[in-house]
Amino acid sequence: FDGLSRSLEKAWDSVRKDGKLTVENIKGPLRDIRRALLEADVSLPVVRRFVARVEDEALGERVVKGVSPDQKLVKVVYEELKALMGGQQAELVQPKYGPSVILMAGLQGTGKTTAAGKLALYLKKRGMKVLLVATDVYRPAAIDQLVTLGSKIDVPVFELGNKVAPPEIARQGLEKAKKEEFDAVIVDTAGRLQIDEKLMEELRETKRVVNPTDTLLVVDAMTGQEAAGLVKSFNDAVDITGAVLTKMDGDSRGGAALSIKEVSGRPIKFVGTGEKMEALEPFFPDRMASRILG
Ligand code: GDP
Repeated sequence: FDGLSRSLEKAWDSVRKDGKLTVENIKGPLRDIRRALLEADVSLPVVRRFVARVEDEALGERVVKGVSPDQKLVKVVYEELKALMGGQQAELVQPKYGPSVILMAGLQGTGKTTAAGKLALYLKKRGMKVLLVATDVYRPAAIDQLVTLGSKIDVPVFELGNKVAPPEIARQGLEKAKKEEFDAVIVDTAGRLQIDEKLMEELRETKRVVNPTDTLLVVDAMTGQEAAGLVKSFNDAVDITGAVLTKMDGDSRGGAALSIKEVSGRPIKFVGTGEKMEALEPFFPDRMASRILG
């Protein structure tokens, strides 16, 4: 987000000189904000709506005593950024009874299996008894990978090899979890290289079988503005409850973080910030907004 903070910084200068925000002096800053967001890989419709909201708010009646116009503009942008990302931290859904069941969906290579392991460790650290279920029967070695991750973080992994259909593995995994009173079951589903009907059908079936409390779509931050469309497709097909944005430690420009909620209506619940099992954090819209503004 470096670029974004820097261009925004420039934008404030021009309004600092005048006493208040006007249609005229706000044009330059708005243009800079627009450019900064586009450079950060935020999708165009999202940028348009965002800039329009900032303009409305900035020129609005709400006068804050003792606050200079540039400070008011910063505050408006901060509030709108925060709102764009959902406003508040989105928690995992709490089940009324039985274990939390979290379905991890996503395309191959996005970091889905890694995220399943990370989330298992995250919940384990919060005192939960966690079971991982390996249903990614398509990607070679995905099951072994999950088994290895599981032993590293000391979380059991339920698997039936790659000859059994994913929904059936998920069903048996959940059965075991209920019988043995696990608090959370994390199902690593079968990814594909791209979205296709067979993938969605299988996901729907797995979802129907385990009736998850959360369906989290794992999204690679490096995919930039395409991430928003991906979330929308998955959400239309299987009704997700949120996203996990991975590889935020890489040199992505961050646009995905800003587009996902606006485009799909679903919040980012976690971000992945590295390859290690500890590198998973809840997503806080306010902290992210502060970071973007620098
Ligand atoms: P899957 O096909 O979606 O299950 O993908 P994997 O979980 O195997 O991850 C693909 C690659 O991305 C692996 O090399 C992971 O170590 C790496 N990876 C996953 N999450 C992150 C992350 O948050 N940051 C970084 N830098 N790498 C990650």
